Amino acid sequence: MLDILQIAVDHRKADLPFRGTVTPVKETVFSGAHDGLGRARLLEDIFMVSAGIRKAALMHPFSEVEVLWYHELASELGLGMAVRKAGSRVLKVYVSGMEKENIIRRIPDLDESMGTREFIIAQIALANLTGEVLGYPQCCVSSFVRHLMDATDQDEGAMEALKVHPAPDPRAYFVDRFVPCRPDCPGAVKEGKRLDQELQRVAPELLPEYREVRKGHMEDVRSGAIVREKKDRDRAIEHERPVKTPSVRPK
Ligand SMILES: [Zn+2]
Repeated sequence: MLDILQIAVDHRKADLPFRGTVTPVKETVFSGAHDGLGRARLLEDIFMVSAGIRKAALMHPFSEVEVLWYHELASELGLGMAVRKAGSRVLKVYVSGMEKENIIRRIPDLDESMGTREFIIAQIALANLTGEVLGYPQCCVSSFVRHLMDATDQDEGAMEALKVHPAPDPRAYFVDRFVPCRPDCPGAVKEGKRLDQELQRVAPELLPEYREVRKGHMEDVRSGAIVREKKDRDRAIEHERPVKTPSVRPK
């Protein structure tokens, strides 16, 4: 059995090959055993991928405990999983069905020790690859890459744009951490609509909850919650302290 220490020593130990989706997925995802991850991540990242609504998802765990929980869930559901470093203390967890598994496995580990210039170039390559894996609109991926090249903060730009936009569309904020190139990006709204329709077909009882979660994503961008969370993470890295784990509930 995998444990937290093993993940801390070598995060790739948590990688899993795709083994075919097991049914019934909903009961497994929402059994209560992994509620510490939060309903939004269970719904958008684990349920939607295991039900085939999304081909892959990317999660940003707050700790190795969360990596272990994702590993347990992906094992039970037969999903592929890859854990990669995106900075000295930043992990990214990808889960996928068969179609995106090979490309996800090729995602490299990055960290700042490779040198600032190389790190930025690698981040740009990773952003393009991740955008392709997750099926994000090209205009939004390009916008993110422009921020990386200009060393500007995409989340701050998105917050300002949302504050002055007359008619933002919550469907453009279709999953956690996805930031549309503008608050009514047609490509992003289209993906939000598609997720609505697919969820309506597969598990209509979850649609009202998903719509609430999505509104929450838009509000997080507007209120600056994401900007603050990133600053907390940076401060924790600077001081070599473990990052706070607000979503972890004692069991
Ligand atoms: Zn866009």
